[in-house]
Amino acid sequence: MKIKYLNFKNQWLEEKKDLLPIIDKILESGDYVGVNASEVIKFEKNLKRIFSRNVVTVNSGTDALTLGMYVAGIRRGDEVITTSNSYIASTATIVHLGAKPVFADVLPDQNIDPSAIQRLITKKTKAIMAVHLTGRSCDMDSILKIARKNNLLVIEDCAQAFGSKFGGKLCGTFGDVGCFSTHPLKNFNGMGDGGFVITKKAVIAKIISRLRNHGLKTRDKADIFGYNSRLDNIQAGILNFRLQNIKNIINKRRSNARYFFNNLDKRFIFVPKEKKKEFNTYHLFVIQVPERDKLMKFLKKKGIECYIHYPVPIHLQKIFKKQKFDLKNTISQSKRILSIPIHQGLSKKQLKYTTDTINSFYAKQNSSIRSF
Ligand SMILES: *Cc1c(COP(=O)(O)O)cnc(C)c1O
Repeated sequence: MKIKYLNFKNQWLEEKKDLLPIIDKILESGDYVGVNASEVIKFEKNLKRIFSRNVVTVNSGTDALTLGMYVAGIRRGDEVITTSNSYIASTATIVHLGAKPVFADVLPDQNIDPSAIQRLITKKTKAIMAVHLTGRSCDMDSILKIARKNNLLVIEDCAQAFGSKFGGKLCGTFGDVGCFSTHPLKNFNGMGDGGFVITKKAVIAKIISRLRNHGLKTRDKADIFGYNSRLDNIQAGILNFRLQNIKNIINKRRSNARYFFNNLDKRFIFVPKEKKKEFNTYHLFVIQVPERDKLMKFLKKKGIECYIHYPVPIHLQKIFKKQKFDLKNTISQSKRILSIPIHQGLSKKQLKYTTDTINSFYAKQNSSIRSF
């Protein structure tokens, strides 16, 4: 049996009949790029309805973070506390603003450890960037409490967490800005780069909205210099279409996760449970296992495609070679984590095959492998 990590071809074949006419209509209209393009406006309205926040679309999750943080108030010399086990873009955006990333260690569930944040706060600390990794919300109660006590901004990296919740509240609605990506690899995905920022403050939305379009106030007038970071109309059209189905995708991923929870051999395989307050969307399903590299090779031989998110924690990249951080959990997790396929297109048979294959790897090993 062959199990792909993601299956874009199938996604396309399922949607083709409905989606081609939508794309065709946009192509015929000639309305391709512009902040007032029809599908872009419609997409921002749709998102506003979902999040009850101001929404500005941009052309990537990375730009959502950069513009979101900048307009929220992060400047040169500020310190931003975040995690090292993220996609490299979350830290890169801090660096590009001239701010300094300060890495906190993580909990067993891979998200930032609030008790580690407190210890890292200095006079220069300006913000906490919470990365909701794998589609699981960070502990926003504790993070907001620390932020309020220390007068810090809260930036949410929601690139992996569209639709995820904490205490019934959507990720992205807790902080000063919530920054999302609609890159093809995300659960809620376009067919090219894309992203958006949500914020309670109308003035933040207004400035981001200018900055993404060369700083222009009207067609010919600018008060500030900006960038080119618009979402294009075809992406917006695809996203409007896919938005209608995102609940089903999330439900299917959650049901796949339930299957894994119930059937993976817990003596060898650790998967952090979904806590009471969490509603996880399972952008990734990460198992933490001994003999990870061997298991990965074994699964590849058996036709199961897996990835590691991420094999090199950001603080161990060459860029940081002069700085030392004490991140025990981050490092030990980086050697044990493995993302197994969980996408919405998996059949019952494929889920069973994946589970049985992983369990069989450990059943075959001798007692030298320690359980958790
Ligand atoms: C994908 C991702 C980003 C970057 O989003 P792009 O749209 O690819 O720029 C940032 N942070 C995290 C955690 C991501 O997974």
